[in-house]
Amino acid sequence: MDLLFLEPVFKQMIWGGNKLKSFGYDIPGENTGECWAISAHPNGDCIVKNGEYKGISLSTLWNEHKELFGNVSGDRFPLLIKIIDAADDLSIQVHPDDTYASINENGSLGKTECWYIVDCDENATIVIGHNAKNSDEVADMINNGKWSEFIREIPIKKGDFFQINPGCLHAIKGGTVILETQQNSDITYRVYDYDRLQNGKKRELHVKQSIEVIKAPFKEDNECKPVISDLGSCIITHFITCKYYSVEKLEINGPICFDMEDPFMNVSIIEGEGSINNIPLKKGDHFIIPANYGEYTLDGNMELIRSYI
Ligand code: ZN
Repeated sequence: MDLLFLEPVFKQMIWGGNKLKSFGYDIPGENTGECWAISAHPNGDCIVKNGEYKGISLSTLWNEHKELFGNVSGDRFPLLIKIIDAADDLSIQVHPDDTYASINENGSLGKTECWYIVDCDENATIVIGHNAKNSDEVADMINNGKWSEFIREIPIKKGDFFQINPGCLHAIKGGTVILETQQNSDITYRVYDYDRLQNGKKRELHVKQSIEVIKAPFKEDNECKPVISDLGSCIITHFITCKYYSVEKLEINGPICFDMEDPFMNVSIIEGEGSINNIPLKKGDHFIIPANYGEYTLDGNMELIRSYI
């Protein structure tokens, strides 16, 4: 049985940079903001690079070979893994939940996402949450552009992890590279874009939808308590298990054997190199371990993020 190595899809963004080159990618330009690394979304459907299913998209595999994914139910591959290079600030934004999205966005899924900080500048920050006491104050602060009062900005460092639930105001700020694990959805409501211009025009805002979905007051998330297990040749940091996914970091320093027990496992190598069952791996590789793959041995000196449902 083959692992499913995927060809990433790159997106140019006004806030993007060129740091994705450090993952070994031949990026399309100096404003490359996103690498859609494991994705079956129509806006960026990854193609399998190797083996029996070489040349086939992940969405096609999901539709025609459910056995690779443990025959789990669902009309689309549930997750989307991205690496984001924010040279400049992303817009202040919020995502809807499944209920709001299915009613207002043609049956789309909502978007719960989480961020692992792969790298960031000294003194880097992100936006998570806001300072409004209730929904009326949210509307007032947005409608009257009271951004410095409204926005809650916090310091970050390499290795931090954040869960962003629907309704949570957020923004990645410049100087940050993150690995994002999210629901397979592309619905973003832009609240504020710093009055920036793209091709001479401001990007569209979604003020009405934002005010409807932003939860107030903001409550800090406490689902997210990293648990570290030291297995000798591997340190596992389990970041979260929520309704949609579990996410972990593995720091590999020598051989370690696992048994595949999940419907499928997404793996992204974010540092170093090594192997899986003697197949070489390096920073920037992304693959899915299919159901019933059995035992696999990871070896080498590398860090990876894995996710499963
Ligand atoms: Zn987001």
